[in-house]
Amino acid sequence: MSSTEQQRVAIVTGGARGIGAATAERLAADGRAVAVLDLDEGACAEVVEKITAGGGRAMGVGADVSDAEQVTAAVARVAEELGPPTVLVNNAGVLRDNLLFKMTESDWDTVLDVHLKGAFLMTRATQKHMVDAGFGRIVNLSSSSALGNRGQANYAAAKAGMQGFTKTLAIELGKFGITANAVAPGFIVTDMTAATAERMRMTFEEFQKLAASQIPVQRVGRPEDVANTIAFLAGDAAGFVSGQVVYVAGGPLD
Ligand code: NAP
Repeated sequence: MSSTEQQRVAIVTGGARGIGAATAERLAADGRAVAVLDLDEGACAEVVEKITAGGGRAMGVGADVSDAEQVTAAVARVAEELGPPTVLVNNAGVLRDNLLFKMTESDWDTVLDVHLKGAFLMTRATQKHMVDAGFGRIVNLSSSSALGNRGQANYAAAKAGMQGFTKTLAIELGKFGITANAVAPGFIVTDMTAATAERMRMTFEEFQKLAASQIPVQRVGRPEDVANTIAFLAGDAAGFVSGQVVYVAGGPLD
């Protein structure tokens, strides 16, 4: 970045750990100022410190992405303290897995609210800064589960919804220099997959071994695998890639 160029500001939701933390660190390494947004602002401190210790600019923001008021306040705070955000990674997520006959309304609502409504609220609040700048990069986290996965009717619906949401953003916002893409990870080693192992009554090690044996590249994914793909789509060089779903799963999925 030359000294005359303005540093782009990115928001990464669910940035305190897992894929979000790796993405925040990667975007900072690429020269972005990064707002690490998560439910608990204190939980963002470690990632923020890592970025600032490496010479980057970052701030932690506490907000629930499914709450419109908190989202509006969080985006305004980022614009005020770091600058207008023009890169948004909608990554915050939760699981409430259960077979359909045992799935409660609350399991359904929580998952749809955090993933899908959260992405909608964050994108709606951020897009005006992108439109004003004539530049924007939106990357939404989908999942291989969008194609269907036992015990995840809520999550699969949310993650398939992310794909339709992403394509529509690409169509509506393209004329403002804004691209929108979805990244759909397969098995990535994070607290989320550790929780799934527990639900399946397996050790995390056994669960990873089993998953790796079914993946063409014969290993499970790491948060950095996803962060690298997000970084490309969030980069200035990706301006002609929009409305795509990129599976980061160590093999083909469809
Ligand atoms: P993770 O380790 O569980 O991290 C998710 C983060 O989101 C946590 O820091 C969590 O905060 C935060 N969060 C939850 N609800 C929130 C809310 N309402 N508002 C703000 N932040 C919230 O998950 P991950 O594995 O890194 O997954 C990141 C994304 O990738 C998710 O969208 C997930 O669905 C997707 N994905 C993951 C995998 C995988 O294999 N890991 C595969 C496909 C897709 P708390 O810690 O406070 O709960």
